[in-house]
Amino acid sequence: MKCLTIIGARPQFVKAAVVSRAFAKTGNIEEVIVHTGQHFDDNMSEVFFQEMCIPKPKYNLGISGLMHGAMTGRMMEQIEAVMLTERPDWVLVYGDTDSTLAGALAASKLHIRLAHVEAGLRSFNMQMPEEINRILTDRVSDLLFCPTQTAIDNLRREGYDHIGTEIVRTGDVMYDAALFYSQSARPPQTEVPERFVLCTLHRAENTDTPEILTALIQGLEAVSEKQLPVVLPLHPRTRAKLDAMGYDRAASPIRFIEPVGYFEMVWLLQHCSLVMTDSGGVQKEAFFFRRPCVTLRNETEWVELVAGGYNRLAGSRPDEITAAAEAMLAARPDYSVPLYGDGKSGEAIVKKLME
Ligand code: UDP
Repeated sequence: MKCLTIIGARPQFVKAAVVSRAFAKTGNIEEVIVHTGQHFDDNMSEVFFQEMCIPKPKYNLGISGLMHGAMTGRMMEQIEAVMLTERPDWVLVYGDTDSTLAGALAASKLHIRLAHVEAGLRSFNMQMPEEINRILTDRVSDLLFCPTQTAIDNLRREGYDHIGTEIVRTGDVMYDAALFYSQSARPPQTEVPERFVLCTLHRAENTDTPEILTALIQGLEAVSEKQLPVVLPLHPRTRAKLDAMGYDRAASPIRFIEPVGYFEMVWLLQHCSLVMTDSGGVQKEAFFFRRPCVTLRNETEWVELVAGGYNRLAGSRPDEITAAAEAMLAARPDYSVPLYGDGKSGEAIVKKLME
């Protein structure tokens, strides 16, 4: 059996690492990896392939930094050519980026079987490019791998019982990654304070409007000054926006560091007192590593974390951010609840594909 895996952005490398390892264990699946090039810096891409032993992509399309239409279109065109050459039995796409949608559209139009890992997630915010990518990808997939019951319920509400697409609850591949790689954690090159808040910030809706980004930064500065120092591995998009605003990072109470590899990220998650993030993956990782979380958004796809008291939504207002940080630093939720499966999602996905 041949499977074409399409990835291009940081969270997809973490997810694909898990499934690639499960593919390799079977010994009779040929996996061909296409890297669209969406993320290309060494610390946003190469480090994950090296550390997590992801097989080298056979194709690197080198497509990045364009508007959504141009990016998705160019990716589709090249992915289609790869599909015609490779003629895979399955195409596998992950999450919710433009690479996901481009792979999904190309596969479905060529009538190649398509499976979506992390299906059924919804923020119900159609302003997010990710929400559009998820909905469309789910709709054209043949097989939907859902991490949670919430994801399955979302699909049912959208009428998937009548559409006939096969839906499988597998648990979350990011939980597999957290368990497997936690032994490999190592401190980042830059020294961090003994007690700190770990923050990541990169969603377009937070970074693309200067007023919103300014409010978020003010909130994080206040947390750094009044509560605990904030350590923030800076995503290239956010760095570009802060630089364009003339923000003086060197003079900031926030400790900005370069994006870190997964092993260093796991160490930071293991050692921080609180996570503050607008990332989808990092919200879950806070839970995996038993750290309270404040989400710098007005809604989340991972609603079970908010319902369980593990996560609090703070939006972008400075006063709400500091209040949420204070509340979550004092929170002591019960982390023993298995929300994201048993750590064997990768195997479950591969087993189903082989059927
Ligand atoms: N991550 C990392 N280094 C960083 C920031 C994030 O390794 O400096 C990892 C993080 O632990 C998670 C993944 O990247 O596994 C999440 O990616 P991101 O936040 O970019 O995307 P999202 O989950 O929001 O789609």
